[in-house]
Amino acid sequence: MVINESALYKGQLWCAYELKDAHGRYNEEYRLFMRKESQKNMFICPDCKEPLILCAGPIMEPFFKHYDNSECIVRVSTAQRRNAAARRELYHLLRDSFPECTIELNKRIEENLTADLYVSGDTIYMAVCYLGYEMKLEEWEQKHAAFEAHGITDVWFLNDKQYTTPNITTFEYLLSKYYPILYYLNSDQAVITLKELVTVPGTSKTARFTKRYPIEELILEKNGSFLCDFDECRFAQAKILEESYQAKIREEEQKAAERREAYALLKERIQYHKEKNEKKNNMISDKQAANPLTQSAHLDKPAVVRKNMDGGELSQKTMKMTSIQELWDLKPLNGPGSLIKAAEYNRYLSLKALNKKLSVIEDTQIREQMIQNAIDLLSERLDAYHWKTVIAL
Ligand SMILES: [Zn+2]
Repeated sequence: MVINESALYKGQLWCAYELKDAHGRYNEEYRLFMRKESQKNMFICPDCKEPLILCAGPIMEPFFKHYDNSECIVRVSTAQRRNAAARRELYHLLRDSFPECTIELNKRIEENLTADLYVSGDTIYMAVCYLGYEMKLEEWEQKHAAFEAHGITDVWFLNDKQYTTPNITTFEYLLSKYYPILYYLNSDQAVITLKELVTVPGTSKTARFTKRYPIEELILEKNGSFLCDFDECRFAQAKILEESYQAKIREEEQKAAERREAYALLKERIQYHKEKNEKKNNMISDKQAANPLTQSAHLDKPAVVRKNMDGGELSQKTMKMTSIQELWDLKPLNGPGSLIKAAEYNRYLSLKALNKKLSVIEDTQIREQMIQNAIDLLSERLDAYHWKTVIAL
């Protein structure tokens, strides 16, 4: 069957989709009138100039057909017939968006390049294409480049029913490289969905921002974008994403502050218990001092026992103070076993530094004073906590 979507009527191109509104309802008076015109052979094929028959039944979308004996070329493929509802909806969208322009269906631009709908007028050259199914990737790239080479703005609508999963197809990805916002037409519902990939702040994840519009609420502009509130809504959506991200950061900062506070409190508590224990120990040692019989050799032992280098025996707690030819026997530090080793090592390093300092001081009085100061400090600091770092003696 040789069919057309438009015909010449009184010298002007007239589209059969004019008989319906955007929702596919016939204007009955118009249909009656045009059917009568058809029976008077008022519709002419733009290609072969033969008269056409206007078919406007209740099931199929309205179209024109040639008389049976026609030899005219096939103008509309079966795919285009299948997409007739989508083409009718897009026809109405374009007619409402560009009332001053000519809209042609199935416009052939060049060999292998046809626009489903073609809008031309003052400074407007637009090809609108509907894809019931995805086409081959490179074929699409070639068509897009060809439209561009002709100075034609190409606008693509995908079949919404083909995209039911949240993940994008390779074809959508390819299109998104050329168009920030993709268009999906649901011809059953006369709804166009706009979708844009947005990056979720602070992550590498992409989210698809989507908004549906009844087709009659949209106006297409000549650069191929829609005049609608999509951008505002998208910014609002992006702001919500951004805000939830900021809220998450604030929450984490809050948690970190709480952890720091808890740690500081814990440190204070440890200090408090340590001081309490020290007081207790002092009381015990005072008692022991009052009673010389209970006094143990260990408690009695001074923090540093100074011996001559030649005569002294070496133990693990002996520090060689070579600069003054002495051996210093040190008292073991108190505290948890896990700290003592590091603390005693720090004390060793502190004494090593002192030894070095003493070796360059010639004034005996100053040297004796330094030694005394160091011994005082060593006597005060018998707790491993005191030797968390090296101390200047
Ligand atoms: Zn024809």
